[in-house]
Amino acid sequence: MTIPVVLFTSDLRVHDHPPLRAALEGAHEVVPLFVRDPSVDRVGFAAPNRLAFLADCLADLDEALQERGGRLVVRTGDTVAEVCAVVRQAQADEVHMAVGHTAFAVSREARLRQALEAEGCRLYVHDGVSTVVPPGDVTPQGSDHFAVFTPYFRRWVDQPLRKPLGAPRAVQVPRTVRSEELPARSAAYGVSDGLAVGGEIEGRKRLGSWLSRHADACEERHDDLAGDATSRLSPYLHFGAVSPVEVVHRARAHGGAGADAFVRQLCWRDFHYQVLAARPETSVRDYRSRGDGWRRGEDAQAELLAWQEGRTGYPIVDAAMRQLAHEGWMHNRARLITASFLTKTLYIDWREGARHFLSLLVDGDVVNNQLNWQWVAGTGTDTRPNRVLNPVRQAQRYDPEGSYVRWWVPELAGLEGPAVHEPWRLTGLDRAAYDYPDPLVTLTEGLRRFRHAREAG
Ligand code: FAD
Repeated sequence: MTIPVVLFTSDLRVHDHPPLRAALEGAHEVVPLFVRDPSVDRVGFAAPNRLAFLADCLADLDEALQERGGRLVVRTGDTVAEVCAVVRQAQADEVHMAVGHTAFAVSREARLRQALEAEGCRLYVHDGVSTVVPPGDVTPQGSDHFAVFTPYFRRWVDQPLRKPLGAPRAVQVPRTVRSEELPARSAAYGVSDGLAVGGEIEGRKRLGSWLSRHADACEERHDDLAGDATSRLSPYLHFGAVSPVEVVHRARAHGGAGADAFVRQLCWRDFHYQVLAARPETSVRDYRSRGDGWRRGEDAQAELLAWQEGRTGYPIVDAAMRQLAHEGWMHNRARLITASFLTKTLYIDWREGARHFLSLLVDGDVVNNQLNWQWVAGTGTDTRPNRVLNPVRQAQRYDPEGSYVRWWVPELAGLEGPAVHEPWRLTGLDRAAYDYPDPLVTLTEGLRRFRHAREAG
């Protein structure tokens, strides 16, 4: 009887895991393998927050496998070389893994397939593990992907959904296959103090409690910055600690307008996956160039730094940037406001913002980060590429009492109500009482500069 290898990548869970279940179908033993590949780090994965979260996810996965009689095998090195070494050691003739959609994942799969063929081993690649609907499954006539969200959503929502699979009862792993020690969360240096705990147990707990406590109000409270009522499932989805297919099933089973609104949010994730799968170069290049001549030079560099450090003089922007530094996560509305401020008010290249986000976001991935940045910058799929979010109006609307800002910008905590959003309105001694910078640029000047640049482009 054969011993299959299951290669885990961005799918660190035992529930609803098609490759693991398929491998176990005809086998008594399997090798659940995770490879710490330095080339994944080199293409941008290695941020301290994600390394710490990954360590939690691997520890959880190992524990779940141990509860079922097995364990996780961890190796460090080139994925292809390590998988082949394990295949030889276990005398495996099958490898199962989830399909990946980035350029990196696609080329890794091709290299692996070729190397395994030479070993006389078959590679099975499973769809629908990391997305609800695989990229390319729904396409408009005459194109390989949807460029606009709403028509994509209409088709996406009607796609048949496979049933989520339960976790296997038993997983036996051959003793002969050695494992390295699992990476420790404490080994990641420079982790945000408020980083969430990773892993499948925490992800499932969060899903259950969010559905029962917040889902019904999802539509009304989604943009409420101080209310913080979104699911915060993004890092668990990013690492595959929860299955997107199962999340949709459970949301639909919960039912109601709130759950529908949440499922629509999840569709954005698949939407970006299908764009990037069809246009892999958009992780670095404009999806639709607007001829931008982004500001560079010393002034722009100083403003970029002020934005990164949360001292732009716009309290809502600074609050959000400080949340990012402290938690390695930011509310979606805050991501929109800060990204619009950088690209449209300061007119600084979206790639600079995306790079900074990726250095901190625990859910940071080239698919959703880069394509959301492009959406906001107007170089992506937004049908209104020149819209500019006014940070003061956004603050008044989505943080009407000013509580979100006072929490993250404590030097303004003495300003009550919405006055906290416009500290520059204070005069004389009142103004001097607050150790807070003046705005980097007026909104009128920012808007004038942006419009001028886009017209010229
Ligand atoms: P909820 O509102 O509870 O939504 C549920 C799930 O839907 C999320 O967990 C996420 O998986 C998905 N989702 C919601 N909105 C989006 C969206 N616009 N695009 C893609 N998926 C979405 N999301 C990431 O997962 N990784 C990123 O690197 C990332 N970078 C972003 C950068 C910018 C500039 C912007 C504007 C958005 C970015 N997003 C990113 C999308 C979104 O902000 C986060 O997914 C969301 O804030 C996560 O919080 P939540 O889990 O509470 O979301």
